[in-house]
Amino acid sequence: ANGSADVLDIKNISVAFGALRAVDQVSFKARRGHITSLIGPNGAGKSTLFNLISGAIRPSSGSVKFNGIEVTGLPPHRLLHAGLARSFQITKLFFDLSVRENLRLAAQSLESARHVFLPLSRNHHARQRVDELIEQFRLHNKVNEQAGYLSHGEQRRLEIAVALASRPKLLLLDEPTQGMSHADTKETGAMIKSLAGEVSILLVEHDVGLVMGLSDHVVVMAQGAKLAEGAPAEVRANPAVQAAYFGQ
Ligand code: ADP
Ligand code: MG
Repeated sequence: ANGSADVLDIKNISVAFGALRAVDQVSFKARRGHITSLIGPNGAGKSTLFNLISGAIRPSSGSVKFNGIEVTGLPPHRLLHAGLARSFQITKLFFDLSVRENLRLAAQSLESARHVFLPLSRNHHARQRVDELIEQFRLHNKVNEQAGYLSHGEQRRLEIAVALASRPKLLLLDEPTQGMSHADTKETGAMIKSLAGEVSILLVEHDVGLVMGLSDHVVVMAQGAKLAEGAPAEVRANPAVQAAYFGQ
């Protein structure tokens, strides 16, 4: 099953909140090593789809395959241990802990599951991972700062680093550049691009320019349903997408 070219295979997934069909019969695949993006207007169902994929909510129908294995309905911690990690549109950082402590907690929680009988090795691996992330995300001069005192852009990047602490195979990023300055958005985009070699990425992003530049594949949602999908240029040229999404 691990030989599958698709890291994610979603089939006809649906969930409703009362009468609202927030995600309605959506199917798509994300290829291993690719950046796959999900775009669509506010309320299209993108975050709900993320919640379905990451196990935060259960679908009423449909299936999720991760690395060729059926994972529909598994809780988030099981998925995290299987290699599926996510960041949140609303931050989940511990604001009163330092940058290093936030990263160490994230790295240790996974290592403790992998090395139950090897506490020394566990700490060693976790520390190594924390050092790598500090390097990769250029957080050297912030390691002892409380997360709550970082700039907005730094907090969003720390969030991505926290999500990567467990060395996931698939990283779900929900609006990582939300509220960022133009400069921070560009830098974060470059950072996401540089991750593509080590982890497959599913990205929800409202900055269409960034999405078109970053993505291998784009899925467009509107009102809970999939409107279109394809390569960035293909999606941009799609008349239905232009009408519904770009308002042209
Ligand atoms: P997006 O992320 O694309 O902006 P969401 O997935 O957050 O959209 O929301 C899709 C729709 O589902 C919206 O109309 C939203 O109000 C509704 N919704 C999302 N979560 C819930 C919930 N827990 N309970 C009720 N309605 C919800
Ligand atoms: Mg959302």
